[in-house]
Amino acid sequence: MNHFENKAAWAMQKDEQDELASFRQRFHIPLHHGQETVYFCGNSLGLQPKQTSHYVLQELQDWATLGVEGHFKPHTGWFGYHELLRDATARLVGAQPHEVVVMNHLTVNLHLLLVSFYRPTADRYKIICEGGAFPSDRYALQSQVEWHGFEAADALIELQPRKGEELVRHEDIIEAINDCGDALALVMLGGVHYFTGQVLNMKAITEAAHEVEAYAGFDLAHAAGNLELKLHEWNVDFAAWCSYKYLNGGPGTVGGAYIHERHAKNAHLPRFAGWWGNDPNQRFKMPHRFVPVPTADSWQLSNAPILEMAALRASLELFDEAGMSRLTAKGKELTSYLLFIIRDVLKEKGKSEWVHIITPFEEQMQGCQLSLKFMKDGKAIFDQLTAQGVISDWREPDQEGRTEGVIRVAPVPLYNSFMDVWRFGEILKTAL
Ligand SMILES: *Cc1c(COP(=O)(O)O)cnc(C)c1O
Repeated sequence: MNHFENKAAWAMQKDEQDELASFRQRFHIPLHHGQETVYFCGNSLGLQPKQTSHYVLQELQDWATLGVEGHFKPHTGWFGYHELLRDATARLVGAQPHEVVVMNHLTVNLHLLLVSFYRPTADRYKIICEGGAFPSDRYALQSQVEWHGFEAADALIELQPRKGEELVRHEDIIEAINDCGDALALVMLGGVHYFTGQVLNMKAITEAAHEVEAYAGFDLAHAAGNLELKLHEWNVDFAAWCSYKYLNGGPGTVGGAYIHERHAKNAHLPRFAGWWGNDPNQRFKMPHRFVPVPTADSWQLSNAPILEMAALRASLELFDEAGMSRLTAKGKELTSYLLFIIRDVLKEKGKSEWVHIITPFEEQMQGCQLSLKFMKDGKAIFDQLTAQGVISDWREPDQEGRTEGVIRVAPVPLYNSFMDVWRFGEILKTAL
């Protein structure tokens, strides 16, 4: 167990010892009344690296001076710009370089991957997904199922926590997979749950899915850049993520996808085709037949959004420099410190029973996010936090009134500090 203290001097000393501390200076930190905010919203929209504008402006300038010639300029030619992101992306998610591609946006990529990995038959057509999934994921799965002529109520198996519990238990996921057996086409889950912050055992879930000859795919919106991932080693079939949350690529920026090499190399696996997925040597010859590149690139349809990619490139360089294993280690420590501070403040205020922390405490089940469920005055406390310079995220109670409101706070290792966490505690104290 870590030793923590709720003292400014202690937090300051931790920051001084932190070998990743200097990365904070490479980001723009939003201000509140002239002082840096406590920005705990990197799980929703990551902050802007200072290098981002430089890279984006470079491409604007090249466009101004080169026009169409920019496609083939040295080093950063737009024709192969996505190549500049490939290796860093592969390291980020633990994949081989030819298993990843930066393209489109998350929901679009989910649909494109489902085209290949959800090909139901009369007997095998079910999908295991999470109950209370992020709406876009639910809509994507629902519409895919219905587009294939099945009923969502029948084809979608939505995992629910046991009565009186908040999290789906791992053993219940495995049991659902085994129970569904031959009828199961696909397991499609969030690697980190967007609401509770729970991290799933993606390796074991993939194994269980393969055991019954189903595919396993993950939405990594809240996992990419948050945790060390080993998609290739875990044998995951496919995954997709967005790049504006932990990855700091900027609002609505281009997303990413992973396809295991055994599928990427399989030319018989159906996929929707466009000219950018074609063998690049053939691209401008415009052959009549689509010849897929034997890599994840073959899922690309259109030519790439260069300005978005330029923005993402700035951030991926920082991830590469810091490395996911060091980031994950710091993220865990920051989050554990936050947990300690919140409990300490609640205890001091005699309000421990006001807040229930939904996110599981076991380290391997936790990323950078804590979800705090307030039994009382949640919205008022959230407003107080905001008024005093904390940027976090409020989730309304659900319409049926089954849950209380939840504040999600995420200290991220690239730009948050131990002092941020300590300051959060002080502000929470006055808010309570
Ligand atoms: C953020 C998020 C999305 C957003 O989808 P976009 O297509 O990028 O708008 C989808 N699913 C999950 C689980 C998310 O967390």
